[in-house]
Amino acid sequence: MAATEPKVRFEKVTKVFGDGESAFTALQALDLDIGDGEIVTVVGPSGCGKSTAMNIVAGLQDVTSGRCLVNGVEVHGPGPDRGVIFQQYALFPWLTVRKNVEFGLKLQGMNSVERRKRAEHYIGLVGLSDFADALPKTLSGGMKQRCAIARAYAVNPNVLLMDEPFGALDALTRVRLQDQLLETWSRDKRTIMFITHDVDEAVYLAHRVVVLAARPGRLQEIIEVDLPFPRNDEIRLSQKFTEIRNRVWHAVYTRSSEQTA
Ligand code: ADP
Ligand code: MG
Repeated sequence: MAATEPKVRFEKVTKVFGDGESAFTALQALDLDIGDGEIVTVVGPSGCGKSTAMNIVAGLQDVTSGRCLVNGVEVHGPGPDRGVIFQQYALFPWLTVRKNVEFGLKLQGMNSVERRKRAEHYIGLVGLSDFADALPKTLSGGMKQRCAIARAYAVNPNVLLMDEPFGALDALTRVRLQDQLLETWSRDKRTIMFITHDVDEAVYLAHRVVVLAARPGRLQEIIEVDLPFPRNDEIRLSQKFTEIRNRVWHAVYTRSSEQTA
């Protein structure tokens, strides 16, 4: 496998829901490569196929035509090489933070000593060490999402797939979790596909922002985020950030509606 081979590849991926008169094209001929260690964010109007695209990579939905490859292998179902984080935390309410994080490791057949060690590491990484024995219902939204992130990280997936993971959180918590995600990424450089409806978040996190348009869902534009890592408040408040943000905003809110108007 060449070093330049993309981690995730969409090749003319089309997804049609239903058939006959009720057929609906959620994604049309999407071509997209995500490099190893790259953070790609996906934005676009509601219904433009963001979640569909991610579910296809996750192996939770089949393509209608085209191919989706992860590590050069066609996706035909979920696997431990891909970790998925949804907006709704999807924690097991009857399990403690620690047991939630250990869950996927248990499925992998890891013994309890290793499991505990690994879980402890990732729980620490997301700042939940003091809450390892707490049940999800006692945690705030931000803490639950950090637990979900620790759980996804613990199984050590090559690719993290995040579908509006911070969407339900308040602005301050969001910003903290964005920084925490980048901080974790800087240590292991995992490949991340991150869906958001927040243009600022899309720019702040990414190497590249993919803008999708709706009806049918399709690629509108890919915008390079030519800002250095590590990202910080200074970058967030910079002129250049604002310029890139405005370009993304224009692509999402002006250009995509021009074409559907
Ligand atoms: P986004 O995440 O960008 O808001 P989705 O990928 O969830 O968009 O959905 C894209 C389009 O496909 C939407 O119009 C949605 O109604 C439709 N869709 C999604 N899932 C299904 C499904 N299981 N059956 C029928 N239509 C669906
Ligand atoms: Mg969605």
